[in-house]
Amino acid sequence: MALAHTLGFPRIGRDRELKKALEAYWKGELDEAGLRAVGRQLRAAHWQLQQDAGIELLPVGDFAWYDQVLGHSLMFGVVPERFRGADGRVTLDTLFAMARGASAGCCGGGGAQALEMTKWFDTNYHYLVPEFSRDQEFRLSWEQLFEEVAEARALGHAVKPVLIGPLTYLWLGKVRGDEFDKLELLEHLLPVYGEVLQRLAALGVDWVQIDEPILALDLPQAWKTAFERAYNLLQREPCRKLVATYFAGLEDNLGLAAGLPVDGLHIDLVRAPEQFPAILDRLPAYKVLSLGVVNGRNVWRCDLEHALAVLREAHERVGERLWVAPSCSLLHSPVDLNREDRLDVELKGWLAFAVQKCEEVALLARALNQPDAPEVQAALAASRAVQQARAQSPRIHNPAVQARLAQVVPADSRRASPFAERIVQQRARLDLPAFPTTTIGSFPQTAAIRLARQSYKLGKLGEADYTEAMQAEIRHAVGVQEQLGLDVLVHGEAERNDMVEYFAEQLDGYAFTRFGWVQSYGSRCVKPAIIYGDLGRPRPMTVEWIRYAQSLTAKPMKGMLTGPVTMLMWSFPREDVSREVQARQLALAIRDEVQDLEAAGIGIIQIDEAAFREGLPLRRGAWQHYLDWAVEAFRLCASGVDDATQIHTHMCYSEFNDVIEAIAAMDADVITIETSRSQMELLEAFEAFEYPNEIGPGVYDIHSPRVPTVAEMVALIEKAAEHIPAERLWVNPDCGLKTRGCAETLRALEHMVGAAQQLRGKA
Ligand code: GLN
Ligand code: ZN
Repeated sequence: MALAHTLGFPRIGRDRELKKALEAYWKGELDEAGLRAVGRQLRAAHWQLQQDAGIELLPVGDFAWYDQVLGHSLMFGVVPERFRGADGRVTLDTLFAMARGASAGCCGGGGAQALEMTKWFDTNYHYLVPEFSRDQEFRLSWEQLFEEVAEARALGHAVKPVLIGPLTYLWLGKVRGDEFDKLELLEHLLPVYGEVLQRLAALGVDWVQIDEPILALDLPQAWKTAFERAYNLLQREPCRKLVATYFAGLEDNLGLAAGLPVDGLHIDLVRAPEQFPAILDRLPAYKVLSLGVVNGRNVWRCDLEHALAVLREAHERVGERLWVAPSCSLLHSPVDLNREDRLDVELKGWLAFAVQKCEEVALLARALNQPDAPEVQAALAASRAVQQARAQSPRIHNPAVQARLAQVVPADSRRASPFAERIVQQRARLDLPAFPTTTIGSFPQTAAIRLARQSYKLGKLGEADYTEAMQAEIRHAVGVQEQLGLDVLVHGEAERNDMVEYFAEQLDGYAFTRFGWVQSYGSRCVKPAIIYGDLGRPRPMTVEWIRYAQSLTAKPMKGMLTGPVTMLMWSFPREDVSREVQARQLALAIRDEVQDLEAAGIGIIQIDEAAFREGLPLRRGAWQHYLDWAVEAFRLCASGVDDATQIHTHMCYSEFNDVIEAIAAMDADVITIETSRSQMELLEAFEAFEYPNEIGPGVYDIHSPRVPTVAEMVALIEKAAEHIPAERLWVNPDCGLKTRGCAETLRALEHMVGAAQQLRGKA
């Protein structure tokens, strides 16, 4: 019998119960017992939901108070010294201190900076980076997994604990203090895995899932060898082991993964369908093969017949050693579609969230075991009907958008003249001083601003009153900037809840859920918009706000847009059309907005591409294709303007070495980037490449409330000028100011303008 299992389930709860409980606990409104009770209820509810859906082997260990990687750090005793209290005990508050930082007074006194946070592979989930010291010791220090296994078993469930594998865990961590090869830690770490497996076996556990997603990355040889060594040792430990890989194909690691001395292998056939049927010839005959055929990273119903065709072939070969699963943990899916009470019926019929994905997995397993069961036949027929209805639905097809896309010619993605000629015209038009100052777009989002937006959305605030409220915010922002003496102003983005959603709401082809939350980190959740059809712009989106803002000042007002790649990366995309096509449709919609802004007299337009770099595929071999279409999409939206109109872009991260050529190919007249935390080091990449256009390296870190001094910023800009000719430098913060308080923002900007003035005086 083929078996239905899942690799992990969302932990936040269908009503974000975990978020609410965590935040209440942090505020002191809920005690630890109360918080733990919420966790227990959520776990019980989630096991039940999966079991009711027909999942036979339930995951345990997918629940985390903040993050599963952090949970492992506690389990292994990887708790940096600064979080250890006088008695050395590791508690729930230790965990939260590691996640969120500790203020002076707790954790033994001096205050402690939180662990670093970074993206989990190519998802929008963030994990807390383990910190290893050279003399790192590993000691079983946290009972959560064992308690939860006992809890599930007490409820009568058949469970499969989920562990992050030793190689992936080490790979994700960073070395603190003296540099050393973290792979050296492996032999100290493995005994703890052994202990964990023994404890689990003692609890009656049969199967354990060991996640090793780094097997889908380009691995150095030393790491490949370490895989063999590690699993040869773990082989002696109890429990049957399923190694799980996901997010990309195994490619050159296929032989390695298939040959590990474990009892089963999971592969992601959604991201890497080409792994099948190759895997059948590589997997030893005794092993379980788990095929991830239901997409754990998107919201669309599975094409069951398509998935079943693959599964049947596998079933013939491996028989009851075949397991059916989602492609990856369902952590990356919203929880339950049934919760959506206002979604359009047709669209809702096309969607599946975590609960529904479990049902799909169970149905597929059932279709292998009992192909003639009437429910199976009915479900397959329903799936076929959905696929057909969607393909033919007029709502996903917009002939005007398709026709326009077909007419795009290469010249549409090229500015009329090269940068060297454009910049002459732009300088003449804009007449800016040396070291021009600007900001990245948003100003602090006060409670009043959020309230006005909310009231408007709920219909409590009329159109005219809302417009007036937002215009008042614009007047305020413009007044502040004029007073500070900034050179290129922004309107402040008060009307925007989020840089993607704001535009998505105004485009055709996008839909929104009410409860489609996905955990981003800790208690933070995001609710990505869904691209379901061809994307078009029925009417201008930002022009009236920007026109109004420009009417208030003689200084140049910068139009502010979100770019096509970022719009795509931070949404749930279609699966019936390539990402490339969706990016081009978005590019055309934004291009129209760019041109409308230009026609309204706006001389500088910024197109944010915050997600450009994170879109890079996990495997280097796939990079060039991505970069080609991503750059092309940006150029398509930016190239419809006159030479004298200045295009800016903004990217907020600090790793450009790998992609500098693509960044240059985007050909934005000005790029603003994050640099203050890296002390301008990343400009080396721009310098080495002889990046030709203008650059605004961030001169202060907006993630911190700290206000840097004028002297610090002068020093940073001077440092920047060692890499980039001063006449091509702009002066600006690292990113938007929406999360900052008003007072600190004012002072920081005042210092920033002061720094630019000092430099002009010196020149
Ligand atoms: N213009 C946006 C802002 O200032 C950019 C945000 C971002 O890069 N994440 O908020
Ligand atoms: Zn940014």
